[in-house]
Amino acid sequence: MTGTVNNPEVPNSVYRTLLESTKAIPWKIDWKTMQFAYIGPQIEPLLGWAPDSWVSVEDWAERMHPDDREWVVNFCVSQSESGIDHEADYRALTRDGGYVWIRDVVHVLRNDDGEVEALVGFMFDISERKKTEQELAALQQQLEEYSFKDGLTGVANRRMFDRVMEESWNDALRRRQSLSMLLLDIDFFKQYNDLHGHLAGDECLRRVGRVLQSAARRSRDFVARFGGEEFVVVMPETDRSAATKVAERCRTLLLKEQILHGASGAGQLVTVSIGLGTIIPGRDDNLTDFLKRVDERLYQAKSEGRNQAVG
Ligand code: GH3
Ligand code: MG
Ligand code: MG
Repeated sequence: MTGTVNNPEVPNSVYRTLLESTKAIPWKIDWKTMQFAYIGPQIEPLLGWAPDSWVSVEDWAERMHPDDREWVVNFCVSQSESGIDHEADYRALTRDGGYVWIRDVVHVLRNDDGEVEALVGFMFDISERKKTEQELAALQQQLEEYSFKDGLTGVANRRMFDRVMEESWNDALRRRQSLSMLLLDIDFFKQYNDLHGHLAGDECLRRVGRVLQSAARRSRDFVARFGGEEFVVVMPETDRSAATKVAERCRTLLLKEQILHGASGAGQLVTVSIGLGTIIPGRDDNLTDFLKRVDERLYQAKSEGRNQAVG
């Protein structure tokens, strides 16, 4: 510890006792030789490596997770060379082959001429903190997923639709591209629930969601549950004739799925009615009116006998 301690009032043994009774692990590296001048005995209970096994910086670099090693070593060396205090988080290898998350806080010591003389620092065990961070990040990701996904069918939910639709609209407006959408509503779904039960109804919604996703094949096509037994398909850069084909594909793939409906007024199988809209939005158009027009066409498809698309 000589060199780091220069207050004559306080004997080195006091500093040593203090340093060695903290949870953080103190260390010192001589810059010229790149050898450890000191490392606190607390290192052994934490990582299993005895203090005298920490000889040079190579021991430090080797006892690091291979994925962390390169950037941590490069970062610490370049910061030290520039004389900048720094810190790094990495996974330190334990003697029995495990890893412990460490935060290494490094101070650069200079001599009277301003040259780097030594590095001193503390290693902190941050494994608990890292664990909490990782758990929080996973939770956050899950929440984000949940908040844009319909819990029943797994397709995007209404909130996501609102976002995507607005973005697609603005994009189409800017680029003068056509934008198409389908609004689909299951026919006689109340009767389906009444006859087959609500659980079967839920399963039916899941299957319809899957069918629609397989029908909308282009990467920018977007399927969402609009609400209840209504779904929506948004198709950027899609003209009317292409959208009509997708609508027909939705109907035929759903028929192929053969979901039996014992109380439908439109046949033996579950069917959908579809309202279709295509627009190259201009400055005078607005999204709400467009959605209203598509909804009216869905109504028309219902009143003209269901199991059909009106565009
Ligand atoms: P139409 O052919 O005119 O569309 O008739 P419909 O019976 O499908 O229309 P209506 O709007 O009267 O009924 C929709 C039904 O959808 C009523 C509701 O119970 C059912 N539904 C809405 N959401 C769910 C759900 O999450 N699960 C189940 N099982 N049923 C649902
Ligand atoms: Mg409905
Ligand atoms: Mg319906």
